[in-house]
Amino acid sequence: MKLENNSSYLVTIGLEVHAQLKTQTKMFCSCALEYGAEPNTHLCPVCLGHPGALPVINQEALYLTTLAGLMLSCEIPSVSKFDRKNYFYPDMPKNYQISQFDQPLCLGGAVSLYERAYPKDVQKTSKANEKKIHLTRIHLEEDVAKSFHFQSTSGIDFNRAGTPLIEIVSEPEISTPEEAFAYLTALRQILIYGNISDADMEKGQMRCDVNVSVRPAEQKEFGTKIELKNLNSISGVRRALIFEIQRQCDILARGEKLSQETRRWDDDRGETTLMRLKESAHDYRYFPDPDLLPVHTEHLLVIAKSRMPELPQAKCARLIKEYDLSSYDAGVLTEDYALVTYFEEAIRCTNSKVRPKIVANWIINDLLSALGNASLTIRESPITPEALVELTSLIEQGVISGRQGKEVFLDMMSSKKSPSIIVQEKGLQQVSDTSAIEVFCDTVMSAHPSVVTDFKSGKESALNFLKGQVMKQSQGKANPGLVGEILLKKLAS
Ligand code: ADP
Ligand code: MG
Ligand code: ZN
Repeated sequence: MKLENNSSYLVTIGLEVHAQLKTQTKMFCSCALEYGAEPNTHLCPVCLGHPGALPVINQEALYLTTLAGLMLSCEIPSVSKFDRKNYFYPDMPKNYQISQFDQPLCLGGAVSLYERAYPKDVQKTSKANEKKIHLTRIHLEEDVAKSFHFQSTSGIDFNRAGTPLIEIVSEPEISTPEEAFAYLTALRQILIYGNISDADMEKGQMRCDVNVSVRPAEQKEFGTKIELKNLNSISGVRRALIFEIQRQCDILARGEKLSQETRRWDDDRGETTLMRLKESAHDYRYFPDPDLLPVHTEHLLVIAKSRMPELPQAKCARLIKEYDLSSYDAGVLTEDYALVTYFEEAIRCTNSKVRPKIVANWIINDLLSALGNASLTIRESPITPEALVELTSLIEQGVISGRQGKEVFLDMMSSKKSPSIIVQEKGLQQVSDTSAIEVFCDTVMSAHPSVVTDFKSGKESALNFLKGQVMKQSQGKANPGLVGEILLKKLAS
């Protein structure tokens, strides 16, 4: 980063991402997980932290964490264990959180940054580096309850207490706010592809702590680490970093020192503010949880391997190769798991007549914008993949024209009817019957003898006029290709 005075600073960023796992029940009890439920309706002595209540490990959470590890190329040690992380916090009455310390489920691994994961405004620039960010570890823990602060009182909702949570810790290898954006986008995509987490940041299902430091270019060791707590959007992380890096550089440029601290990002005001000073690393007095046996991971690996999905980048490459899609189209589709699933479902219903490329075009150009206008997600699409394929095949078979197809499409969006029913109801069948078209052509030619003469004496544009007249006569139903052919044949004779 260059400052006004031209001295340059190096930026170091490491991210700690928390993601809630998509399980039916909580991490150590059988209470249901239900986002948005009436507060304090899913609780029991275990997740309330009553003394003496015994935790039981949720196996599905172990599978999902192992799967996350496999998808991110982590090493899965043969034994893992749970530890107590001790601290006092009102939303965690047992005063320790069950987490993992020295034997987490996953070690190492990496997230690959690719161009489309970067913010739109830096794609196709040198800022959109294709690089790998290594992971330190992924561990499994329980979420705490959620506090609410009202005017003069506070409330705690224990529905969230005990939600399985994975923490994905990156190495300090991220160098720009844009790389942090790409890292989070690519990581979130993997969690969604694996059905590991819905990773909806607005719902708090994925949250991020941002660690950032700057140092003069000539300095070898990292600068003072400052932590920004609990960011809840990917674009917010980018904005917070841009602000915070500038703030730190300004302080160093003034010859002042930075102190190790935890700060909060205020998205409305666009600035970070001090939360607390961190004198030295916290002492959480971790120790193995005596209520839980160590976990042997061999069987977890077997299950996780059987659930391993195709990775987003591999899917993107396959769509290009197998279906002859452009890399742009394949990129748009694979970016959103629900969207690519829609495309693949559509492809499964196609016959050899319908080209996958055409289906992709309809999805990317027509469906996405229609859904956007109606504020619907792809999952809420009124047009099913089967119906969309039916529409494209009606066009490819020449039953309706491309222009009529657009009309039918809009009708499908609002009425949810099948395209063939709409075509029938509106009487849209394209006339491909040559004898019918010949009659239209004869009528038009005898009604406009001067235009026919014009064409014969070399005025080629006269043909378009005649074509237009035939289409009008047929009320737009004549197959335009056939009309052109038949007219030319008649004009030549
Ligand atoms: P702590 O013990 O304070 O939680 P860790 O060493 O566990 O610190 O690191 C937490 C996160 O901070 C990791 O993602 C790591 O990559 C990142 N990190 C560590 N040192 C720095 C630094 N000097 N600047 C920026 N990020 C850092
Ligand atoms: Mg840490
Ligand atoms: Zn419970």
